[in-house]
Amino acid sequence: MKKLTLFVLIGIITLSGCTSGPGLITVTPAPASPGPATQTPFEPESPSEAPTLTLEPLASLLPPPSPTPQVTLPRPRYQLQVGLNYDTQSLSVKEIVHYNNATGQALNELVLAVVPNLWVGTFRLEKIQIYELLEPEYKLDGQRLTLQLPDQLPPNAEITLQIDYTLNLPAHSPNPDPNTFRPDIFGYTVNQMNLVDWYPFIVPYENGWILNDPWFYGEHLVYDLADFEIELNFSNPANAPIVASSGEQEITATGLKLRAERMRTFALSLSREYQVSETEVNGILLRAYAFPLFNAGNQAALEATRRAMATYSELFGPYQHKTLSIVQGDFNDGMEYDGLYFLSNAFYNLYDGTERNYLVMVAAHETCHMWWFGAVGNNQASEPWLDESLATYCERLFYEKNYPEANDWWWSYRVTFYAPEGKVDIPLYDGGGFTPYTNATYRRGALFLEDLRARLGDEAFFAFLKDYYTQMNGKRSTRADFFRVLAKHNTTDISDLLAEYFSQQP
Ligand SMILES: [Zn+2]
Repeated sequence: MKKLTLFVLIGIITLSGCTSGPGLITVTPAPASPGPATQTPFEPESPSEAPTLTLEPLASLLPPPSPTPQVTLPRPRYQLQVGLNYDTQSLSVKEIVHYNNATGQALNELVLAVVPNLWVGTFRLEKIQIYELLEPEYKLDGQRLTLQLPDQLPPNAEITLQIDYTLNLPAHSPNPDPNTFRPDIFGYTVNQMNLVDWYPFIVPYENGWILNDPWFYGEHLVYDLADFEIELNFSNPANAPIVASSGEQEITATGLKLRAERMRTFALSLSREYQVSETEVNGILLRAYAFPLFNAGNQAALEATRRAMATYSELFGPYQHKTLSIVQGDFNDGMEYDGLYFLSNAFYNLYDGTERNYLVMVAAHETCHMWWFGAVGNNQASEPWLDESLATYCERLFYEKNYPEANDWWWSYRVTFYAPEGKVDIPLYDGGGFTPYTNATYRRGALFLEDLRARLGDEAFFAFLKDYYTQMNGKRSTRADFFRVLAKHNTTDISDLLAEYFSQQP
């Protein structure tokens, strides 16, 4: 039974979820729009018959009315100047945010998520400014920063904020029971500093600001796509740590310039211990960062990611960035961010040299989140199944394509061993504990997708996934989007499947 106990323990240690958001935000414009306007090109229908020679009224010679014009607004842009002292685990940040109001309505306030303020004594606001107004009214309550705007911000108008703050990072606390405490990723250990959800960001707006409450497990944040320019200056450049990050890096005299576009979130992990391995797939640079003595695991994580990237690019569509970083986390969890993901220390410790283990399996899972969370966003708290069921099913697709002899092992080890129960579409807060939550959202989600695939057939099933990815890339998806695209590819009655797996019927 020792083996079973280990399975359960590792299962508890491992699974984590993820999120979503849009690229260039497209909105229906209000009359005056300061942003650069891009008109949707009009494509006339091709005539079904040869034109007749009768004289047509003048109106028919005029171009037909264009469809409702659309304005494409620039994404939010975050420019961060960061002074970082690795030895005192502290940062001093000047953050400038350029935000275009793509909500379609006038705004009286902005809401920013300030996740570091959930830790006591970590986040200290030095100054907040709306150009050109000094000292606007604001309220910082937990992770929510509400900023009153001096004047209404009309639709499509831009506003620029500056927020100066310091971070004194929390030390990671060991978290033996994930049902009670979620592993702290943000913060530091003796080996590592992790900057995740570390800067204030304007949360998405849809009939209100979307900022969910944190929970004991799983993810609660929702992101729209944004662009990032980060200037990282070390207090001691001569002894600077190695930096794993989202996006692209350029070395400077005092640190690094980091840049990324169309990202949900920008994550960094720093360590003086990292050993780095690189490879490339489809022109994308993959970099794997691990601690010394874990080279075999580092290579395995890199290779699994390389294979997973190739598999998902073919099945869903291209990966959206030029780089992806894989980082050995000094904590017990796997976790995706955009362009970077973590794999638990425990997976490297238990790596057995084969493909049948959590290191390879979760690498396939987290890589998949670059499609379902990174490119196609969702509300991670209200509809976690939208990314987690697909990321879990991706593991099955990864093994099917790369190690088909391991298919049966994967189903039993990952899914059926747990005899999962529950409805796939439960919100994070209704999970009833970490294991019941992952059973319903991840494992039953994978079973639903397997049944759906059997019902549709491979051709229609993969055409659906590709279409869903293409349509929702850069946006935040909902169940309505999922089932709307599915309906285009499905000609069979799946009401029994929906009744079995979902609490709400589409
Ligand atoms: Zn996940």
